[in-house]
Amino acid sequence: MKEDFTYKDIISNEPVNKSKVDRAYEIISALQTEMKKFTDCGSGPFLAAIFDKSGNLIIKTSNSVVNDVCSHNHAEINAIKEVEKMYGTYDLSEYDLSLYITAEPCMMCVGAILWSGIKHVYYGIPSESVEKITGFDEGFKPDWLEEFRKRGITVYGNIAPELGEQALREYIENGLTVYKPER
Ligand SMILES: [Zn+2]
Repeated sequence: MKEDFTYKDIISNEPVNKSKVDRAYEIISALQTEMKKFTDCGSGPFLAAIFDKSGNLIIKTSNSVVNDVCSHNHAEINAIKEVEKMYGTYDLSEYDLSLYITAEPCMMCVGAILWSGIKHVYYGIPSESVEKITGFDEGFKPDWLEEFRKRGITVYGNIAPELGEQALREYIENGLTVYKPER
C-alpha cells in the first residue's frame, strides 16, 4: 500500500469497503507494473484479470486489437470470452466473479461486462485520464456506475491511478499505436 493512498479518491457505487479496495489496489498495481511486458509484444496498454469467488486468478489477458487485427479485442472482452469458454456458459452470474481492469472500461466493454454476468468490477485509471494521456476514444457511458448498481453489479474505480498514468505515458512515449477509427 502506498503511503499517500487514500480511500476518499475511490469512485464506487456502494459504500466503500476498505478491504475490497486494498485487494484491488494490490491486483491492479501488479497489472500496471507488468504492462510493459505485454506492450513490448504488441498488446494495447490495458490488462484485465478475472478472479473467482475464493480469490483465485482464473485468467489474465491483454488488449490484442493490433495483434489480432480486431477492434473488439479489448482486455476485458478477451478475459470474459476465455472464462465463458472455460466455464461453458454465456452467463457467468452464478459464479460471483470479479473483474480487475487497469483502466475504466470503454463504452463497448461496459456493455460486454453487463451481458456477461460478471458481478464485481474494479478499475484503475479513469477514462478521462486515459483520453487525456493517450488520445484513445473511450465513448459515451451515461451514468454507467448507477446502471450497474441497479443491476446488482458493484464497481470500484480510480484505484492506483498514478501507476496507470505512468504505464500509459510510457506507451505513448515509446511511440506505440493509438488505434481508433478516423473521423
Ligand atoms: Zn473496451
